Amino acid sequence: MQQHIPTPTEERTIKEVQQTTCCIVGGGPAGAVLALLLARKGIAVMLLEAHMDFEREFRGDTVHPSTMEIMDQLGLADRLLQLPHTEMGQFTIQASNGTLPLANLNLLHTRFPFVTVMAQSRFLDFITEEARRYPSFQLVMGAQVDELIEKDGVARGVRYRGQDGWYEVQAVLTVGADGRFSRLRKLAGFEPIKTSPPMDILWFRLSRKESDPISGLGGRQKQGIIVALINRFDYWQVGFVIPKGGYQELRAQGLEQLRQKLAQVVPELADRVDELKEWKQISVLAVESSRLPRWYRPGLLLIGDAAHVMSPVGGVGINYAIQDAVVAANRLASKLQFGIVQTRDLAAIQKERELPTRAIQAFQVLIQQAILARAIQAKTNIAIPASVRYLLRLPLIRVLPARLIAFGLRRVRISQQLL
Ligand SMILES: Cc1cc2nc3c(=O)[nH]c(=O)nc-3n(C[C@H](O)[C@H](O)[C@H](O)COP(=O)(O)OP(=O)(O)OC[C@H]3O[C@@H](n4cnc5c(N)ncnc54)[C@H](O)[C@@H]3O)c2cc1C
Repeated sequence: MQQHIPTPTEERTIKEVQQTTCCIVGGGPAGAVLALLLARKGIAVMLLEAHMDFEREFRGDTVHPSTMEIMDQLGLADRLLQLPHTEMGQFTIQASNGTLPLANLNLLHTRFPFVTVMAQSRFLDFITEEARRYPSFQLVMGAQVDELIEKDGVARGVRYRGQDGWYEVQAVLTVGADGRFSRLRKLAGFEPIKTSPPMDILWFRLSRKESDPISGLGGRQKQGIIVALINRFDYWQVGFVIPKGGYQELRAQGLEQLRQKLAQVVPELADRVDELKEWKQISVLAVESSRLPRWYRPGLLLIGDAAHVMSPVGGVGINYAIQDAVVAANRLASKLQFGIVQTRDLAAIQKERELPTRAIQAFQVLIQQAILARAIQAKTNIAIPASVRYLLRLPLIRVLPARLIAFGLRRVRISQQLL
């Protein structure tokens, strides 16, 4: 394990030293939901978010049935569903040998048999607005955490650069929910185990018309080209899958090639591929997948993408981040109320979440290698093997992909003592 070498702070004048019980770094889905659950129990919680708002381009926009059930437990589901969103109940895959119903969420026993597609910024605004109702909650936007405070081998809080200088937060527990490029993970000296998914994603926008005949979240594939479309109401967010490291080759072929490929796979948008005029409209997202062998050390816990970066296959990252937050709150709230957290409490969180994480990552690797990589490299249409088609007709089997998308490996619920 890498040893943490503290950054010299002598030249940093700390404007204020703040005290809290739980300091959460990162206001993504994991951090925001954990903060809400703890604040509801009167635990002093400080949520530090580097950005000034929750608008972010590189974000997923899915709220899965698992999260809706958690919102329902909190009495928030109906209000959440009043925000602009679309609902997807069925996921199909267009293969060269026909259309296959991959996951039908209507088969599930849940009040919410659909994936809610909603701007993540709205979801995070909603959660943090709700948390603000509790006096023990504090949100600091524009707080760039850069240092972990450690005393006698125990994490005791962080230092962050705020709008007008440096601040120190002293805490009983520090939670790193700061995403795939986690600063806290680095500061703690944790090295993730990485697997390299065989693809990268080009990420760009095309305009959207109300009359577009495509539903909320769509996936298309043709001759090795795979495109995901997310309805962001004002525009289409397009994810164009390319082989890992294939960006330079694509660029050398010219933008017109990309426009043509896009029009070929999504003919409904052919009339506006010309909106792509220069490469700077297009971002390249290096797809990653990794997990930490250890998610904690005394006084410090990592959750969500900071502990395990998910590949985009199946769109499960948000769901898993929120499930981590719920498990952390279930296990820690009663301890934090007394201002004590033992390392074994943190270990228990990893223990509960590690198997579901490893299982879903293994499933993603399988899909990536067996289906996506082959199709992308060979530039062929995805073909679903006859055995898979047969299995997906069996009632007991065909419900499994829907369950996995909806709930992950296990359903996670907020414990009664937190309600
Ligand atoms: C382009 C893209 C599309 C995706 N699509 C989907 C999808 O459709 N469905 C799905 O489920 N998942 C999707 N994902 C994955 C999903 O977004 C993540 O798994 C999920 O957001 C993880 O939540 P999190 O709370 O752990 O971290 P994040 O959402 O990454 O939040 C981390 C937060 O920490 C803040 N932060 C970082 N460093 C610091 C610091 N030093 N100090 C203070 N704050 C800091 C960041 O600003 C950020 O707000 C997608 C990911 C990408 C990149």
